[in-house]
Amino acid sequence: MSGRLEGKVAIITGAGSGIGRATAKLFADEGAKVIAADLDNADETAAEIGAAARGYTADAAEEDSVRRLVRQAQEHFGGLDIFFANAGISGGLKGIFDQTPEDWQEILRVNLIGPWLAVKHAAPVMKERGGGSIICTASVAGLRAGAGGPAYSASKAGVISLIETACAQLVGSNIRVNAICPGLIETGMTAPIYDWAKQAGTSDKIGQLNPLQRGGEPVEIARAALFLATEESSYVNGHALVVDGGLSASHPCRRLAYGATAF
Ligand code: NAP
Repeated sequence: MSGRLEGKVAIITGAGSGIGRATAKLFADEGAKVIAADLDNADETAAEIGAAARGYTADAAEEDSVRRLVRQAQEHFGGLDIFFANAGISGGLKGIFDQTPEDWQEILRVNLIGPWLAVKHAAPVMKERGGGSIICTASVAGLRAGAGGPAYSASKAGVISLIETACAQLVGSNIRVNAICPGLIETGMTAPIYDWAKQAGTSDKIGQLNPLQRGGEPVEIARAALFLATEESSYVNGHALVVDGGLSASHPCRRLAYGATAF
C-alpha cells in the first residue's frame, strides 16, 4: 500500500537517528511532507528523503523551538496534521542512589516535557485544520520496571499519562493522541547494548526474553506510528500501543512453565 499519507504534513522529532529517521522515511514514502527535527543529523535524514522533507536542528524540549517547528510546517508545507513526538534520551545506566536531581531534570525535560510541548503547540493548529494525530514515543519502561533507569522509566510512565490526559482535554477537536511503547529496538540509544553483546559474542541472546526471541528494527515502530497517523486508526485515541514482540505480555517465569509448549 502507498499514498496513505498523501496531502498530510508531519513533524517528527528525534528524526536524525533510529526510530525517528525510519519513521520520517516511511511517512515520506507514504506521501507525507515531513519536518525532520533533531539536535543533529536532521539534515541528513531530510537529504535522504529529498524534496518532501526539510531538516531542522531543534531542541524538542524547548518551547520556542517547538513553536518554530509548528510554524515551519505551516510556512513550508501549508499546515500540520501529524506530530510524532519521538525524541528521547536514556540518561545512562545509573540507579536510584547514583542519579542526581540534574539527571532527573534533563531526562524528564526531554522525554516528558518535550511531548507535552508537542501537544500544546500542535493541537491549536490541527484544530483549525479539522483534526490531526499526535503520537508520543513512550516505552515498555513506562509500564513496569526493568527496561530503563529510574528517571527514564518515570518519564515514560508520564508520557502514557500525558496522552490520556491530552486525549481527554482535546475533546471535540478530532485530534487523536496516542503513544507507542517500544520494546528493545536496535538504534543509537541501544547501540551500547548491541555493541557489548557483539564483543561478548552473545548477540544471539539479544531479545531472548520476548516470545519472538529477537530485538526489533526501527521500521517495526515506524509502521506502528504510520498506523496511528492514518485514518486506519480513526477510533484509536488515548491508547498506549505496545510494540515489543510480546515482552510485556508475561510475568517473568521459567520458559515452558504453565504448559507453554516447546516448538
Ligand atoms: P536514537 O537512535 O538515539 O534516536 C533518538 C534521537 O533523538 C537522537 O538523534 C537524539 O539526538 C535525539 N534527541 C535527543 N534529545 C533531543 C532533543 N532534546 N531534541 C531533539 N532531538 C533529541 O534512539 P531511538 O531508540 O530511536 O529513540 C527514539 C525514541 O524511542 C526515544 O523516545 C526512546 O526513549 C524511545 N524508545 C527506544 C527504545 C529502543 O529500544 N531503542 C525502546 C523504547 C523506547 P542525540 O543522538 O544527539 O542524542
